[in-house]
This record gives sequence, structure tokens and C-alpha cells, in this order.
Amino acid sequence: MFPLRRVYCIGRNYAAHAREMGHDPEREPPFFFQKNPDDICADGVFPFPELSNDVHFEIEMAVFLSAGGMNISEADAESCIFGYAVALDMTRRDLQGQAKKLGRPWEVGKSFAQSAPAGPVYPAKNIGHPRSGEISLDQNGVRRQTGDLSQMIWSVNEQICTLSRYFTLAPGDVILTGTPAGVGAVSRGDLLCGRIAGVGEIEVKVV
Ligand code: MN
Repeated sequence: MFPLRRVYCIGRNYAAHAREMGHDPEREPPFFFQKNPDDICADGVFPFPELSNDVHFEIEMAVFLSAGGMNISEADAESCIFGYAVALDMTRRDLQGQAKKLGRPWEVGKSFAQSAPAGPVYPAKNIGHPRSGEISLDQNGVRRQTGDLSQMIWSVNEQICTLSRYFTLAPGDVILTGTPAGVGAVSRGDLLCGRIAGVGEIEVKVV
């Protein structure tokens, strides 16, 4: 088991997804939000949450840190990484949308129970550091999201470098590195299958 500390997530990190959310991807510096460590779950089920009628999937590569610090250089970033997993940043999109409109924080939309299903963590010593390769999500066998890790606006190393200027990173921290285009709503009974070439797969049943 990987001992979790904090969960950081980057917003709008693939240009096509930023555009589908109504933003210009070229002008924005990176920004981050957090989920709670116990929002990460590995049991393959996602309970449809309360108070939302529009819950979206977002397939993302998760990066697990085994070292940290402040002001980590891009060159040193990879030495902090323990491994990688396929994860979902499940989102109560209607509540996130209301928060955005009112200039309020995103927690009610993003940081709810079991909002971050994750697959097994694969150590970098076994799989290396995936920086290109297809990232995709199928909903009930139909392809919904497709992209490539190389399309990240801010690379994994740049994300670690930037985060470490704002926060002291430490072993156990996890970074969800953003989602490609094609996000959409789930219903109870859906089967979500996420894949990242060179990392692995995740299967999650919406219950
Ligand atoms: Mn996301």
C-alpha cells in the first residue's frame, strides 16, 4: 500500500480540454486544487455522489512522490517520483460550475468521498517515466476521451517544480496531471475503463 499524504490536481492541462471548458489554454499559468487523501480509492467502484445531477469522469495520470522539498528544479523533479497510476478525477460538474460562477472554491465539486478512483501504482524503476503515449477512457465500451501524455501544457516535471514553489512537497504526495478532451457525465451502472500506454489500466463501476 502506498502511504498517502496530499493530493494535488492541476486544472486545464490539455489544450483541447481547456477549450471544451470554454478557456483559452495558451494564456494561463498552471493552477492547482486539492482533493483529500481519503478521496483516493482503489476498490473499483465509484458511488454516485449526493447533491449532483451532472457527475463527470476525467481520466488522468497520477504521479506518486517518494521525496519532496521546496523549490525543486525541473532537472531534479524525476528523482522525487516513486511511480505512476491511472486515476480518475471525478467531478460534480454542476456544483463546480456554480462555484466558478460565484468565485467560490471548488471543494464541493472536486473533493468529495471516493472522487479519485485509482489503479495500482507502478514504480518508475519498472516502467520508467512515461512522457508520451495514449491516454483514453471508454464508457460502457464506447471511447469518450483520447489524448496523448505529450499534449500536457505543463509537463509532469514542470508541475512538480511549480508546486514546490508554493508548497513543501513530501513523500506520499500525489499529483493528478490533468485530463484530455472528451469529459462527460456518468450514470449508475456505467463501466469506466481508463488506459494509459506504458502505465496501465483502471476499471471502475458506477454504483
Ligand atoms: Mn482533472
